[in-house]
Amino acid sequence: MNILIQRSELKDIYNKVEAGHRIDEADCLRLFRSNDLATIGAMADSIRQRKNGNAAFYILNRHINYSNICILDCDFCAFYRRRRDAGAYEYNLPQMIEKAREALKLGITEIHIVGGLHPSFKWEYYVEMLRELKKLDPRLHLKAFTAIEIMHLSWVGKRSVPATLAALREAGLGSLTGGGAEIFDPEVRKVICHAKESAEEWADVHRMWHKMGGRSTCTMLIGHVEQMEHRVDHLRRLRALQDETKGFTAFVPLAFHPENTKLSHLTGPSGFDMLKTLAIVRIYLDNVDHIKAYWILMGMKLAQVSLSYGVDDLDGTIIEEKIYHMAGAQTPQQMAQAEMVRAIREAGREPVQRDSLYNPVGMNRSDTEATENGRAKATTLAGANSEGGAA
Ligand code: SF4
Repeated sequence: MNILIQRSELKDIYNKVEAGHRIDEADCLRLFRSNDLATIGAMADSIRQRKNGNAAFYILNRHINYSNICILDCDFCAFYRRRRDAGAYEYNLPQMIEKAREALKLGITEIHIVGGLHPSFKWEYYVEMLRELKKLDPRLHLKAFTAIEIMHLSWVGKRSVPATLAALREAGLGSLTGGGAEIFDPEVRKVICHAKESAEEWADVHRMWHKMGGRSTCTMLIGHVEQMEHRVDHLRRLRALQDETKGFTAFVPLAFHPENTKLSHLTGPSGFDMLKTLAIVRIYLDNVDHIKAYWILMGMKLAQVSLSYGVDDLDGTIIEEKIYHMAGAQTPQQMAQAEMVRAIREAGREPVQRDSLYNPVGMNRSDTEATENGRAKATTLAGANSEGGAA
């Protein structure tokens, strides 16, 4: 234990973590209230090392936001439009297919699909979208829809949520995205997304999907009106659900971007807050294997630093992102694989290209040992968990 930690007010939590014990909500709140980033980061980094060795994951993927037309009007959202608003758009299926076809040439293994709650798209649009994308390459993993979209599709398709999930899976749905969670506290939801489904409804969709053997990610939107107690409550609910289902593969903290939203008087989270939150989440969510820094939101520079604060996944190449760029994100729209690998290596980690289930995909030929069938064996993947799941 170094001298700084010996003197830290968080020494008792550090000892708990080092002994491999779970921290409780009071500990978690103390971490959020502390500004001792060095000690919090040291705890998170040691857990990251234990869980994932020196690996830092990334995926070759493409985001497609099929439409920004939405029946809701969440105050934190800069993405949504009414049908006749300037900037409203929707992709038809040939447009979706063309975007996917182009991205497949770049070697992507996953398409990440989310959009607004469209007022008039029929059930068939969504099912055909999945079927046609799958036809392009059956190995392509379709990570699609938030729990909120699933509830909307259940209404559109006049099916129960389990029947909706089963039908979408049959059409090609690989895993669910983690969006729509925002902050679970009902009072906060009233302010930032008053008409959106509740925390319990969000959790029920994921619970049903997990019980069907599906995998998903989970998120928390930070840096708006929430208090630290709300973050702790949010994480408590996620940890309890994960104890129950073990269906979350990764946690992704989302930074609120105020520009062009009804909450534009707020500032969003600082870099310090983002790093501290990533580290605290790594410490508290001891039952989730991977913590992802979504570089498109926080910038690659901070995402790179976060690899020393509990993060083991930088997400993907993305190619086209609309949701956060309409809220003022200044990050590039895509990240070349070589740039991703360089950033990870510079941070002292071994880059491991993964699929949506966190299985290594053999692309880093210079760092890995090529096997006879042309796939690469990740030689540095000490402790990397390849248990099923989507990113
Ligand atoms: S966050 Fe989603 S549901 Fe809310 S307004 Fe934006 S697109 Fe619609």
